[in-house]
Amino acid sequence: MKIKKAPIQPRGRFGKYGGQYVPETLMKPLQDLEEAYDEYSRDPSFKKELRNLLESYAGRPTPLYLARNLTRNLGGAKIYLKREDLLHGGAHKINNTLGQVLLARRMGKKRIIAETGAGQHGVATAMACAALGLQSEIYMGREDMERQKLNVYRMKMLGAEVHPVDSGSRTLKDAINESLRDWVTNVENTYYLLGSAVGPHPYPTMVRDFQSIIGREARQQILAREDKLPSAIIACVGGGSNSIGIFHHFLHDLEVELYGVEAGGQDIRPGQHAAALVAGSEGVLHGMLTYLLQDTNGQVQNTRSISAGLDYPAVGPEHAYLKNTGRVKYSAVSDDDALDAFKRLSNQEGIMPALEPAHALSYAFRLAKKYPTKDSILVNLSGRGDKDVEIAARHFIQ
Ligand SMILES: *Cc1c(COP(=O)(O)O)cnc(C)c1O
Repeated sequence: MKIKKAPIQPRGRFGKYGGQYVPETLMKPLQDLEEAYDEYSRDPSFKKELRNLLESYAGRPTPLYLARNLTRNLGGAKIYLKREDLLHGGAHKINNTLGQVLLARRMGKKRIIAETGAGQHGVATAMACAALGLQSEIYMGREDMERQKLNVYRMKMLGAEVHPVDSGSRTLKDAINESLRDWVTNVENTYYLLGSAVGPHPYPTMVRDFQSIIGREARQQILAREDKLPSAIIACVGGGSNSIGIFHHFLHDLEVELYGVEAGGQDIRPGQHAAALVAGSEGVLHGMLTYLLQDTNGQVQNTRSISAGLDYPAVGPEHAYLKNTGRVKYSAVSDDDALDAFKRLSNQEGIMPALEPAHALSYAFRLAKKYPTKDSILVNLSGRGDKDVEIAARHFIQ
């Protein structure tokens, strides 16, 4: 695959955001990682191996689907869905894990560690490691392990070792802290596989590049169907990898409006949501300068969202930059509105979305009506909803 260089350098900065705010012991491994990534991302044999895996193992290219019923019922722009939900594992995460596991193998690392929140990245890591013959160990907050038992079983079936994390709020941010701690200690043989476009440089750039295949395909597909670019692209933002993945190849097409949708939770009061760009402030977390949810002492606030994949108190640094330049508009959608969108897509198109992209869908439904019927808008359907059926059932069926 063709991997475009970041337009905004010097070294891992997006404007002032990003950087490498890490203990000194991690500077050398990050530099090694950056050099290896630079080398292999240009190596034809690496690119060929990744392309083959993305096609024959993960199921790329994913289709672009015109949601005719939704479009008719809303009466505005044509709504297209980029079907990342059809990938192996049920979400976009496999695009990144295959890329990074392949890189780790080229670097001669024998052991892969990863953090996971809901367990989706843990499962995608365990899959890629099983397929490529590497050992994986996954850090997961004890609280999340309780909430997402099925994914814990999946990871174990796939051969991964799962380490419970008992520090802090026993959720995703603590699992990332624990992974960074492990990496510092075992850096010789260990590769840290981060799951979103977050963390110290080079992760935000590297994960963005691996996910940018989404937008590259979507651009070709929509041009083939409509003979012009979409009026808008909408994607949900947790750490920000599926959204930057679909936005990347459209950033310079200024006629295409880009919308990132965060988790509005119950409401926009501290502790009740996970909308770092909409309601957060600048600070440093997990090695990057970015927007995050913090109190006046700089302590990270608790977050809340019906969708575990969006339940993270910070966001990737490129999004912080894109917010400040105004190129991407960020907003938040509530739990209830996401659930309604989940139901609407299920009923009207026979597609159950994950609750994460249901946030983007909800926003898109409102937006579609503002455009004429000859226009199109594109929603990134980042994952499928099987994992969320119980939550939806509790809300709608009982
Ligand atoms: C993990 C996940 C997300 C959120 O992560 P990003 O890095 O923001 O993409 C969104 N959708 C699905 C289906 C996920 O599994």
